[in-house]
Amino acid sequence: MADLADQYEVHDYDVVVIGAGGAGLRASIASAQAGARTAVICKSLLGKAHTVMAEGGVAASLGNVDPEDGWKTHFADTMKGGKGINNWRMAEIFAKEAGDRVLELERWGAVFDRTPDGLINQRPFGAHSYRRLCHIGDRTGLELIRTLQDKGIHSGIDVFMEYTMTRLLKDDQGRVSGAFGYRREDGRFVVFRAKAVILATGGWGKVFKVTSNSWESTGDGAAMAFEAGAELIDMEMVQFHPTGMVWPPGARGILVTEAVRGEGGRLKNSEGRRFMEDYDPDRMELSARDIVARSIYKEVQAGRGSPHGGAFLDITHRGPEYIKRKLPSMYEQFHKLADVDITKEAFEVGPTIHYVMGGVRVDPENEATTVPGLFAAGEVASGLHGANRLGGNSLSDLLVFGKRAGEGAAAFAKERGEVAVDESLVAVEKELLLRPFANHEAGRRENPYVFMEQIQDVMGEHAGLAREGASLRQGLEKMLALKARLGDLAVPDSRMYNPGWHACRDQVFMVELCESMIRSAIEREESRGGHWRLDFLELDQDWGRHNLVSTLADGEVHVEKRAIPPMPAELAALIDDKPAVSKAALQAVGKA
Ligand code: FAD
Repeated sequence: MADLADQYEVHDYDVVVIGAGGAGLRASIASAQAGARTAVICKSLLGKAHTVMAEGGVAASLGNVDPEDGWKTHFADTMKGGKGINNWRMAEIFAKEAGDRVLELERWGAVFDRTPDGLINQRPFGAHSYRRLCHIGDRTGLELIRTLQDKGIHSGIDVFMEYTMTRLLKDDQGRVSGAFGYRREDGRFVVFRAKAVILATGGWGKVFKVTSNSWESTGDGAAMAFEAGAELIDMEMVQFHPTGMVWPPGARGILVTEAVRGEGGRLKNSEGRRFMEDYDPDRMELSARDIVARSIYKEVQAGRGSPHGGAFLDITHRGPEYIKRKLPSMYEQFHKLADVDITKEAFEVGPTIHYVMGGVRVDPENEATTVPGLFAAGEVASGLHGANRLGGNSLSDLLVFGKRAGEGAAAFAKERGEVAVDESLVAVEKELLLRPFANHEAGRRENPYVFMEQIQDVMGEHAGLAREGASLRQGLEKMLALKARLGDLAVPDSRMYNPGWHACRDQVFMVELCESMIRSAIEREESRGGHWRLDFLELDQDWGRHNLVSTLADGEVHVEKRAIPPMPAELAALIDDKPAVSKAALQAVGKA
């Protein structure tokens, strides 16, 4: 061990959490409270993780405004939204515990919007049977992060900001024993030794060009797990949020929160018609995200789109005072980025990549992955949302499973003796990270930014909202061609302040995940949730009983169909085949 410390910055902890979004912070708090020495690491500054951007709210069946609500309905809505391929045990735990996690957040200081009686207020959202989203205007993520950050610091966690981890380290028995990476500002290599590691690195929306996701969402955690031997599931399942900005070009993809529709926003085509009448007349704008996204796509294809290839969203009937109070960020966003006053006119929206339902397979009880010593929570993990996530269910997912992951990892660490690191893994990663400089010296010029655009072009053209077998196969060929060029990525200069260099390793992560996504999308010959196959338009019963599991061995991605364990009868009895919709939600969109 001494030689590692001679060469690198080395830190020793019981539990290391990679990622400081909602999942990472909640996991760190739980780990520290369980008595484990805990560090949390993030690529940007504390408080800047993607979670801070969350707008609409956190879903929990508190029943504050609709007393009929309860965990059973939340469970059923989540399973129906996910089109039945969710991990039902995760959905059960989630629905039962989400309320406690939100109330705990309130005790820790989160200031939610209130009902007149002083309870946490709850708003309607797509495909939730009741008003269920606890919110703080349209800035819910900011309050969630602020509260967790404060609680985390006072729980004694150590924070390492602007560090990028690039490889999980193991001992000679194959147990994860830390992570290797670099400090972003000066490129210095760093080793974290740990008895357990939790991945909380978020999603990988950046593999698409039009996305609501931030620069951090390159899928590092899922790819690190994949490289370390963990299983990924349902990688074909990507969520296209129906309402991103489509104009001006620089703002394309930025999210227009579902809260606009939750507060009564109406979708119209170029003829001024509320076209959701044709696609889901019962739920209208509060239909599930997959259905609304497809409906906008179909309107555009039929020549009834808005001038820049989307649809119009109109909330003007709510009046300026209400809009500015309930949707302040949306008001500002359109005012500043598009010079549009949403209190006075309808605005253009269209589908944008928003969330990945696929990810690292975990045990529902403690979020252990299939690799000993490795845990995962939040968007990087998979199972809860199945084929389509309901709005608001991500923030409660982070809280429920972040806590469980922290406790699971701390328990694992307690049982484990001293950790040792297989130093050959450090050497392999160091060589991989330094290769772009050697390539540049040798005259190679594969530019990481151009490369990233090429990945995004392939995904957008061949694995986007509407998919088709022949096109997916072409996309796979193109992705494999990109994979063959990864070893040539080149950057000049030093490791100091060099984002081009950082981008090189990101491309490896992204290509690995994209290959798994495309291969899985080819395999699943049906349409389900976020996965819409134009050549297989219907739900297929057999596929409804299976997940797709991806593994990586010797650089090759393998995809296998695996049966979902049968659901206990008492849970199955909670799910009917009617689409979830609430009377109050329909009132909000003027339908009841
Ligand atoms: P993130 O918050 O993405 O955090 C990831 C962390 O991992 C970051 O700290 C990052 O720096 C770190 N990291 C990543 N890679 C590395 C690495 N290699 N080394 C070190 N650190 C690393 N969901 C809802 O439920 N309700 C909403 O209202 C809602 N609104 C949304 C609005 C927007 C605009 C967007 C984009 C999403 C919204 N979502 C919402 C989805 C939700 O915000 C995300 O799914 C969720 O925040 C993800 O949280 P996370 O903790 O898993 O990861």
